[in-house]
Amino acid sequence: MNESTALVTGANSGIGKEIARQLADAGLTVYVGARDAGRGEQAVREIGGRARLLLLDVTDEKSVADAAQQVESLDILVNNAGMMVDDATAAEASVDSFRRTFETNLFGVLAVTNAFLPVLRRSAAPRIVNLSSGTGSLTQSADSGHRFAFAPGSAAAYRSSKAALNALTLFQAQSLADAGFKVNAVAPGLRATNLNALAAGSAGDPAEGAAGAVRLALLPDDGPTGGFFSWDGSPLPW
Ligand code: NAP
Repeated sequence: MNESTALVTGANSGIGKEIARQLADAGLTVYVGARDAGRGEQAVREIGGRARLLLLDVTDEKSVADAAQQVESLDILVNNAGMMVDDATAAEASVDSFRRTFETNLFGVLAVTNAFLPVLRRSAAPRIVNLSSGTGSLTQSADSGHRFAFAPGSAAAYRSSKAALNALTLFQAQSLADAGFKVNAVAPGLRATNLNALAAGSAGDPAEGAAGAVRLALLPDDGPTGGFFSWDGSPLPW
């Protein structure tokens, strides 16, 4: 049994459900963040252990505030909830699709993190993991030889939101370093989930990508902060 408590947002499916499952298997109490009660309860049943439902829509200010009220102690926050509206290139994309994407993938992370900071600050070893994407690496995107170089269907809104999330991760780590926080971003790799139906190429097991997030969630005190890592633990360029 592990005395730590974790919250995983968007934990009713895909990589988030696997992160919650692996943390529950490690003996932690895990809040399964879900915006839909039915989908959330189903995930809690599947995960078992000390998993419990926390209703949470990361784009809804009241929902975030209500959720934060219900959690008395928290050591680990995994900002996993994410979405992709479309795969339009920047030349094709609408401002609306950028706004909707950023609402969840960036502003949702900021809102949830700030709402849970008071309770995280009471932890002896607070950890925050932001689910980014290798496609959000500007270095790799600018490399014409890299598989994430520009191509039709490059999902400019999604990739921009993950690049911005990387920036937020760094600034969160810097502003929370004095309080003992470890804040890192992870790229889980291309995984077979609801989200990546729009992504091209072959997709792997969500559990493998989840393990990379869990490693960062359980970092020891001498672990890194303010970094961007692949699911296998190797550092990625911003
Ligand atoms: P997924 O199965 O679609 O899971 C996304 C989760 O986020 C779902 O539980 C979804 O809930 C939830 N969510 C979306 N909007 C939300 C909101 N406003 N409030 C609360 N929850 C919300 O996709 P996934 O692939 O596991 O994605 C998990 C994370 O990994 C995302 O941040 C994604 O960008 C990242 N990622 C995925 C891949 C990949 O290849 N799959 C690659 C790189 C990064 P509903 O079921 O209610 O929609």
